[in-house]
Amino acid sequence: MLYSKNMSELTSLECPECGELFNHEQLQTICTKCDSPLLCNYDLVDYADSLDKEQISSRPRGLWRWHELLPVHNHDYCLTLGEGDTALLPVPRIAAELGLGPVFVKDEGGNPTGTFKARGLAVAVSRAKELGAKALSIPTAGNAGGALAAYAARAEMEAHVFMPADAPLVYQAEVAAHGGELVLVDGLIDEAGRQAALQTEANGWFGLSTFKEPYRVEGKKTMGFELAEAFHWELPEVIIYPTGGGTGLVGMWKAFSEMEAMGWIGADRPRMVCVQSEGCAPVVKSLEGGEPRIPPWENAETTAHGIRVPKVYADRLVLSAIRESGGTGIAVSDDEFIQAQAELAQQEGIHTCLEGAATLAGLRRMAASGEVDPSERVVLFNTGTGLKQMNVI
Ligand SMILES: *Cc1c(COP(=O)(O)O)cnc(C)c1O
Ligand SMILES: [Zn+2]
Repeated sequence: MLYSKNMSELTSLECPECGELFNHEQLQTICTKCDSPLLCNYDLVDYADSLDKEQISSRPRGLWRWHELLPVHNHDYCLTLGEGDTALLPVPRIAAELGLGPVFVKDEGGNPTGTFKARGLAVAVSRAKELGAKALSIPTAGNAGGALAAYAARAEMEAHVFMPADAPLVYQAEVAAHGGELVLVDGLIDEAGRQAALQTEANGWFGLSTFKEPYRVEGKKTMGFELAEAFHWELPEVIIYPTGGGTGLVGMWKAFSEMEAMGWIGADRPRMVCVQSEGCAPVVKSLEGGEPRIPPWENAETTAHGIRVPKVYADRLVLSAIRESGGTGIAVSDDEFIQAQAELAQQEGIHTCLEGAATLAGLRRMAASGEVDPSERVVLFNTGTGLKQMNVI
């Protein structure tokens, strides 16, 4: 038998701001005392004693091979469409042109629904179903809505998706294809969030808005485990990540501390670099200003819809992960990432999404200013396939 019945070492939910603990065996949203996102705690000592990392490496591929460190207890609830274990691809021609050493693309375009949103929603939908939710809702720029609709279909649950009316048709069609309810909203993802929250409350659905429930970040955390494993448990020096709500950044940062607590990796950490578009760069601006919080960005505009996120709900978690890592924030222009997308596709055969291409634009800036040394290993996150954006620009 592959899995024992209790598959998870989850022990509690905790507010990282005020320390309040919450019952992890009930559906939870945010901290009722201070509105912060909640994070999962695991019995890492127990787990590290009973299993070593090599055993996980020998399990069948996919996100659920990390199940002890994910929140679902009963195997019957673990939904899968084949997410996780995406390719880590060297990009030697681009690295040479930039005068750098080893540069890799972690290609999340290989996930179901074509983006890494699948990781977060595979876990969050599984856990919501395990805890008794019947109908789910989400505000989305596009990709999270498609992923929710797909996993909800797999779970035989309802999906209600709130999306800006100007979202490209492919994102709208994907929701419809999976039988989800699509609600088009005048405004950006923050307005979609407001409307989703109202309807979710009124109809008794469970909401899966970024960081307003504790489990999407757990799914995205698996990117951190996979990277550590791929680099033989010595993390790369630089990770560049196209940042919207920051789920992946915070998730990987959490994965790194969990792995250190289990003795899988040492104390060295990558510099976490946040790339955003000049038309919507709230995280970069707060990093540059040394601010403790991230105020909403006015008049957000960029062709990279996945990072057109004017309000970063988990702002303190995002800022502290980047700052503790010694990382930085870089805002690049849409022209720069459109050009970077062509470069990756034509020189390396990797058809990235615009958000993913923005990481190369960011690396180009870092290489020019000497912020990366040729001895350093760099990972660019391509968060989705370029195929979903063929008619976006
Ligand atoms: C959602 C999304 C992002 C931003 O992800 P976060 O982890 O929430 O910052 C980046 N790229 C694409 C393609 C996305 O769909
Ligand atoms: Zn709190």
